[in-house]
Amino acid sequence: MYLKKLDIETGFTFDDVLLVPAASGVEPSETEPASKFSRNIKLTIPFVSSAMDTVTESGMAIALARAGCLGVLHRNMTAEDEVEQVTLVKQADDIIEREVLTVNSQATVSDAARMMQNYSISGVPVMEGDEIIGIVSRRDLRWIASKKGDQNIRTVMTTNPITVNEDVKLEDALEVMYNNKVERLPVVSEGTKTLIGIITMQDLLEKNQYPAANRDKDGKLRVAAAVGPFDFKRAVMLDEAGADAIVADCAHGHNLNVVKSVKEMKESVSADVVAGNIATSAAAEEFGGSVDGLKVGIGPGSICTTRVVAGVGVPQVTAIASVAEVASQYDVPIIADGGIRYSGDIAKAIAAGADCVMLGSLLAGTDEAPGRVIAIKGRRYKQYRGMGSLGVMESGQSSDRYFQKKDPDMPRGIGQTKFVPEGIEGATPYVGSVESVIYQLTGGLKSAMGYTGSPDIPALKANGKFIKITAAGQIESHPHDILITDEAPNYRLKDN
Ligand code: 5GP
Repeated sequence: MYLKKLDIETGFTFDDVLLVPAASGVEPSETEPASKFSRNIKLTIPFVSSAMDTVTESGMAIALARAGCLGVLHRNMTAEDEVEQVTLVKQADDIIEREVLTVNSQATVSDAARMMQNYSISGVPVMEGDEIIGIVSRRDLRWIASKKGDQNIRTVMTTNPITVNEDVKLEDALEVMYNNKVERLPVVSEGTKTLIGIITMQDLLEKNQYPAANRDKDGKLRVAAAVGPFDFKRAVMLDEAGADAIVADCAHGHNLNVVKSVKEMKESVSADVVAGNIATSAAAEEFGGSVDGLKVGIGPGSICTTRVVAGVGVPQVTAIASVAEVASQYDVPIIADGGIRYSGDIAKAIAAGADCVMLGSLLAGTDEAPGRVIAIKGRRYKQYRGMGSLGVMESGQSSDRYFQKKDPDMPRGIGQTKFVPEGIEGATPYVGSVESVIYQLTGGLKSAMGYTGSPDIPALKANGKFIKITAAGQIESHPHDILITDEAPNYRLKDN
């Protein structure tokens, strides 16, 4: 009986396999990397950030959504603070400025001119109560303010200004501005003159710089947010704040209480619900089609010690393929979470069945990750720590990810005050802007698509073929027999 236990399958991870080159009619530049995060959330580029307190807050989420990816906000903060983070992302690219400076219809020309001067604005709506009755621009007032400053503003304002409704799209607003030669568009609630906000040409041109951005139906940037698997209150608050996906964040998603709770959570919110983490077909079967996405990875993370502390895990390529085998039957997208060190690993994860990858260490060293740059022996780093590390568990809200609470049943002095960490704390090289990292990773992925003859992500998923490599093959895969003198932006030397 025990010997039979050793009659076992082999688990593969990224370094155990390579993708086999195939006849290809597609150039890397022609490939299309668009994919999905969850049932209702598309990605222009299939990368999302880890819900970790050294990786994703609003700054990272905004930068990623603008690039066509997605940020998953961490939850090592109060529910109110996480809601605030969602709001910051949602407001970041709102084309409507909602805090509008106005003058009332009693104001003089000088009053309006002074206000525009003081706040450096080029135009201001004229109001009667909360209704807009006109608009004046700085240019219109320049001459008259110096001559007849005490004149009533009504005498110089443009009456019946062109307005738009709140649901106006960026391109439509631009068109209205160009056609009417105006630079400011007041926004009113439909069928009324009640002013809600203003759209300016300058803002629109700035926001138009992100054509690949990941936006919701209202044109706002998309964002996902992590919650504990039993934290319904937080899930509902985040849902109401506009989070596009709720990610139930748990080290063992196949815990049956977690499965039950996450299925209930799905019924309580309108956002997509992603469950995780899991690593087997059986776990995927347990969720079936009940959730909008499944996150795969038990122990592959760079800061993770689960596999040595608990002796549990599944090498990541096998884990992805095992979950994909089942999830694809239910049309549930898969997120490969953890262990990605190079762009080649991303291509392998997708060929194994993932729809997108979640990145921690690759993004933690960027400007957009929380935390400051530190110097160690003349090199620049940023802090990066596991969410199951002592530091994080002691600091706050996420020890339940690892089913850890102070345990009253443990002998006094042992379990009552201590955590058993499943992660470590460290530093990762500072790598500059997230945009440059995404550029390199996308380039590597597109290159893989070219080599394997895959015009798009579904083709890479379906046709990417693996070959198993030996330890010698692995040495051959990396630069060898050379003293590296210059790191490449997509290949850095390890510090230890
Ligand atoms: P990385 O991209 O750095 O290899 O892995 C990041 C992933 O590791 C995260 O998205 C998360 O799933 C996982 N993770 C984060 N913190 C910890 C931890 O302390 N312990 C474990 N076991 N996994 C962690």
